Amino acid sequence: KIKQIAIYGKGGIGKSTTTSNISAALSVAGYKVMQFGCDPKSDSTNTLRGGEYIPTVLDTLRDKQIVRAHDVIFEGFNGIYCVEAGGPAPGVGCAGRGIITSVSLLKQQKVFEELDLDYVIYDVLGDVVCGGFAVPVREGIAEHVFTVTSADFMALYAANNLFKGIHKYSTEGGALLGGVIANSINAPYAKEIVDDFVARTHTQVMEYVPRSVSVTQAELQGKTTIEADPDSKQAQIYKSLAQKIVNHTESKVPVPLETSELREWASNWGKQLVELEAGVLSPAAAG
Ligand code: ADP
Ligand code: SF4
Ligand code: MG
Repeated sequence: KIKQIAIYGKGGIGKSTTTSNISAALSVAGYKVMQFGCDPKSDSTNTLRGGEYIPTVLDTLRDKQIVRAHDVIFEGFNGIYCVEAGGPAPGVGCAGRGIITSVSLLKQQKVFEELDLDYVIYDVLGDVVCGGFAVPVREGIAEHVFTVTSADFMALYAANNLFKGIHKYSTEGGALLGGVIANSINAPYAKEIVDDFVARTHTQVMEYVPRSVSVTQAELQGKTTIEADPDSKQAQIYKSLAQKIVNHTESKVPVPLETSELREWASNWGKQLVELEAGVLSPAAAG
């Protein structure tokens, strides 16, 4: 049975990098994968395609009268199917509607069945708190949602907003939360902060992913780490994450914090970081 997952997170946090490495790892493990970029930037699948941009569904629909699904599906690393929804013309139209249009095009033409896919992974911009970007959650496009976050307040704020969206649509058959992917986790106390955040929101960490120069080097070659540096420690981490996603079956309704609670929580951590730095607070007592 096909498993459809959506990866959300604040802009620039590492969604496309993480998603592409998950796709690559799943593909290397023998699964048939489609990566569906839902960010109007349309750069989700670049590192699966040698750094190349592919024509987007929305651009193709604007150019042609009749679009066959196969006009917008491009093959990437190890046979991964790559699609970019694209965005509306700047200043016009709704990015969320664009996602619905793009997904419908493939669904109407029964592409998922025809390609016999095991996984469709949607890479979705998540710092916009509007109905448009909630589409993959709300419309039952995805079943499981994962969010990429660092320990930075703005990234956690975006994750908490996503939790609010999931919570809201959970009674109407919306997608539920699989867990949090903690990226760039080598910063001091980043792990402790994310751990505390997931405990408070009744969620879980799927994997801790450090910042690694192997990711940068791979990206400069237009590749994922899985492709460019398959024996690296970083590649092992992405493979472990992909395997956890394979094993994951039960997603849950997260318990978001009120914005005021989140601010208070962050400011409390801010004070503790100063005390930890000064040696007045012991690491064991933090949290
Ligand atoms: P998003 O899709 O969330 O906007 P990207 O995946 O494009 O973010 O990542 C933004 C930048 O951060 C990229 O240059 C990417 O290579 C870098 N990056 C993300 N995760 C890591 C990591 N774990 N180690 C090193 N660089 C990373
Ligand atoms: Fe943009 Fe969201 Fe408004 Fe759609 S609903 S136009 S995606 S802000
Ligand atoms: Mg991206």
